[in-house]
Amino acid sequence: MKSYNIDSNGFYGEFGGRYIPNEMQACVEELADIYQPIINSPQFQQEFHTLLRDYVGRPSPLYLARNLSQRYGCKIYLKREDLNHTGAHKINNALGQILIAQKMGKKRIIAETGAGQHGVAVATVCALMGMKCEIFMGATDIERQEINVKKMRMLGATVRAVTEGNQTLTEACDAAIKEWCEHPHDTYYLIGSAVGPHPYPDIVARLQSIISAEIKEQLAAHEGRDYPDKLVACVGGGSNAVGTIYHYIDDERVEIILAEAAGKGIGSGQTAASLSVGKQGIIHGFKTLTLQDEQGNPMEAYSISAGLDYPGIGPLLAHISSQGRSQVVAITDTEAIEGGFRLTLQEGIIPAIESAHALAALEHLTFRPDEVVVVTISGRGDKDMSTYLQFM
Ligand SMILES: *Cc1c(COP(=O)(O)O)cnc(C)c1O
Repeated sequence: MKSYNIDSNGFYGEFGGRYIPNEMQACVEELADIYQPIINSPQFQQEFHTLLRDYVGRPSPLYLARNLSQRYGCKIYLKREDLNHTGAHKINNALGQILIAQKMGKKRIIAETGAGQHGVAVATVCALMGMKCEIFMGATDIERQEINVKKMRMLGATVRAVTEGNQTLTEACDAAIKEWCEHPHDTYYLIGSAVGPHPYPDIVARLQSIISAEIKEQLAAHEGRDYPDKLVACVGGGSNAVGTIYHYIDDERVEIILAEAAGKGIGSGQTAASLSVGKQGIIHGFKTLTLQDEQGNPMEAYSISAGLDYPGIGPLLAHISSQGRSQVVAITDTEAIEGGFRLTLQEGIIPAIESAHALAALEHLTFRPDEVVVVTISGRGDKDMSTYLQFM
């Protein structure tokens, strides 16, 4: 059987690894040595799962969407990460990593954020654990994401404005990494998606794998078999998708469909479709597919949804899609908005515009009547109301 697992150097096939400056090696190695023993310890598992249940509200429901099922002529289940505390899957990862930081004896958490969703999740778990929290955010994003900045401050975090370059996510990542290198002993860097230098992609994958662990149990109860025919998820950096597929990666009975953001179209230059049009490159400390111009210079990503607006992709997803294990569907802004309205009107669920990309992917697929399909709804759409309203 083919395996898509990570190797001991943190590579998934040719993607992943660790491409970082020397000053950072010690911090990352300390984490690489200790993350598996911590995550596998009964004490960590017990604390993590108790908080997932009582604080996050897990397990999130697996809901048989009857109206959508009728439309597509098969059984469509929705994995409801939108019902988690703080409204998306990001809290699973933030909670797991802060427990790791505590076990490592760290006193202070730093993180980067673009749209502010990860920043809010981190500020939330820092308030819960009574830990000091500093969020690095581009000055441009601070202006664009006022509510999330206010939430982070209300939760007791310090939001540090980054004024280099374009003053957005990439510069915020660089600033957070620099801060970590300068304070390696007391500080933990809490990454927001299945990206970054090894071991971060594997840490985030293991923490988010709760999503597919629950899907297995819930499908067994609903359908009498613990696997679906198709899994569908949207991809920014890839954490909700990796969580959705984790326990099925080596199970070839399960088709994997990844919905990435085409933005205005994959050939338009205004896109975030790194699986469809990206080339091999290095970004934020790992090798993956990145958006580049004809000369190979890094290009900015564009998508209507801030959470998918990332110029790379997690290494596991780059690997499985290059191996043909997953099917990639690039969804335009317009298709995503239509997908969001469809779910709202047919099921009474307003999804995040990120998640609406996964729903739009259903329009590109064909189904047999006996097929069981699981679509992950990564988050709720409250944060996106002003964007949706522009299309009403
Ligand atoms: C951040 C976010 C995403 C994209 O991140 P992944 O790491 O690719 O999952 C998707 N959906 C929602 C609701 C988000 O907040």
